[in-house]
Amino acid sequence: MPNMLFMGGDEMAISRPVERAVIREVDKYLAGHGELCACEQCRNDIIALTLQNLPPRYSTTREGEVWINLELQLPQLKMDVWKAILKAADRVTKNPRHYA
Ligand SMILES: [Zn+2]
Repeated sequence: MPNMLFMGGDEMAISRPVERAVIREVDKYLAGHGELCACEQCRNDIIALTLQNLPPRYSTTREGEVWINLELQLPQLKMDVWKAILKAADRVTKNPRHYA
């Protein structure tokens, strides 16, 4: 069951600009929170979980649907990303996989 938490990251079909924004914000978050482990494993898990935690409106699953108004939506995106990062970081901190 615990491993289920980390599955599905690749099937999310989150739009690329959103994915890049998530990676940037996760790195910023980790840089500002020295108490969190920022090893490759934990960083990747937090990124994957953050993408999973994002609202469905950031996905590009429907054919031809692309997130073109990204710049306009940035404040909302940032808020959603930060909420998702908090959840993801909390979960990874409680279930770190880095010593496997
Ligand atoms: Zn770690």
